[in-house]
Amino acid sequence: MALTATTEDIQHLVTHLNFAEKVQRSLRLIKTACDEYGERLVVANSLGKDSSVVWHLAKRVSPGIPGFIVTTRFKPPETKQFMREEVRRYPELRIFENNGEIPDRLHRTQPDRCCDILKVQPTRRAIEEMDVACWVTGLRCTEGRTRTDFQEIEERDEGLLKLNPILIWYEREIWQYLSLYGVPVNPLYKEGYRSLGCAPCTHISSSPDERGGRWIGTSKCGGECGIHTRPLKNDYQI
Ligand code: SF4
Repeated sequence: MALTATTEDIQHLVTHLNFAEKVQRSLRLIKTACDEYGERLVVANSLGKDSSVVWHLAKRVSPGIPGFIVTTRFKPPETKQFMREEVRRYPELRIFENNGEIPDRLHRTQPDRCCDILKVQPTRRAIEEMDVACWVTGLRCTEGRTRTDFQEIEERDEGLLKLNPILIWYEREIWQYLSLYGVPVNPLYKEGYRSLGCAPCTHISSSPDERGGRWIGTSKCGGECGIHTRPLKNDYQI
């Protein structure tokens, strides 16, 4: 079966499929992509709870499936420690980072530019160096206002497919899966975070929006770093 975009209503799937049906659907999507793209199917792992679910699902489908982590100089120590543990468990996870010079406090003055340099550019490099034809993400459409319009299968860049196999999962179902399968998870969640990113731009928040603690006090509040919204294949200059 070829990997093709669904014509089903995503919101209907979110509300009408139960947990077990969503797990089966996600496994099916990854299996189909794996059959179609083989070694050119790669999982992006952000070290957050959603990535931990996707990574575990992908390993159930194909234990050798490769992955990449994009990290930055601003990731919290707990996330860096969790990254080292994940790479020890899964040596097929490659790390990408941009350690070039950036202006002081760029994350406050120009957060979009900071994310572009520290997150989007290394993601482009991962896609290129790993010769990725289809990348798998942990994006979910119930995470917040900026994520409602995504699809399970997207082709924003020509020649690069993006698979969002847990797009229709609720936050509760993520924790349900992690708990039922005993999946190791970033310890920062114990402190009350619901969405994790770089330390200066991530806060514990009481907002009903799961991503409401991201980039508080900037124009990006609750928004996106850019890897899901900007071109990844083109030679794109900021
Ligand atoms: S999340 Fe903040 S510190 Fe991290 S890359 Fe984006 S703006 Fe910079």
